[in-house]
Amino acid sequence: MSIADNLLKYKNELDEIAVKLIAVSKYQEPAAVQEAYEAGQRVFGENIVQELVDKQAQLPQDIEWHLIGHLQTNKVKYIAPFISLIQSVDSLKLLLEIDKQAAKNKRVIDCLLQIYIADEDTKFGLGFDEVIELLRSEEFAQLKNVRIVGLMGIASNNAQEKQTLDEFTELKVLFDGIKVSFFRKEESFKEISMGMSGDYKLAIEAGSTMVRVGSSIFGKRKIKHWKEEA
Ligand SMILES: *Cc1c(COP(=O)(O)O)cnc(C)c1O
Repeated sequence: MSIADNLLKYKNELDEIAVKLIAVSKYQEPAAVQEAYEAGQRVFGENIVQELVDKQAQLPQDIEWHLIGHLQTNKVKYIAPFISLIQSVDSLKLLLEIDKQAAKNKRVIDCLLQIYIADEDTKFGLGFDEVIELLRSEEFAQLKNVRIVGLMGIASNNAQEKQTLDEFTELKVLFDGIKVSFFRKEESFKEISMGMSGDYKLAIEAGSTMVRVGSSIFGKRKIKHWKEEA
């Protein structure tokens, strides 16, 4: 199946249940993104800043780019002018820098707080206590140029279905608690980004509003940066 075929299969399935599809194009060549774009996709996720900046410059300007990978504070400035959603906010320090760079660009940047739900040491994210502490902090209350629109999480790799479903369910329960405690009046706090190619069905069962699908749309990822292949 072509990229366009794969994409349409997901789009049709997800549109019907009003779950958003983020096409994860990391390590894929711009031509692959263009093919998905021509099949109607407008939202793409990348996880390396340099790759994102390069693609943003050469692909259609109405693409909504999401950053889904770990973001270093010193790189926020490169994406602040155009990024639609930063899904991987994992510290107050990072959020403060995003606010500063958003202000410089005279805009408000939408963010998700990435929550650590996996049973592994390798994933980034805020712990349950840390996210509450962040939301209660004085510093957070001062921020004017970031808007928190929900939470994001990545389940454990290669786990049993039950564990994956439990991890997603924990994120949904946390989301509901945070919504009531901190964002009751904010309509915009509504996204739970969870689910990838291998586990998106379980994520949707647990209440995902946004899935991030890469390999089952684009095929296997190139091992190196697409630019190094040329
Ligand atoms: C790579 C990646 C995805 C997509 O993974 P697939 O298994 O290729 O669908 C989703 N979310 C994050 C955070 C990723 O880094």
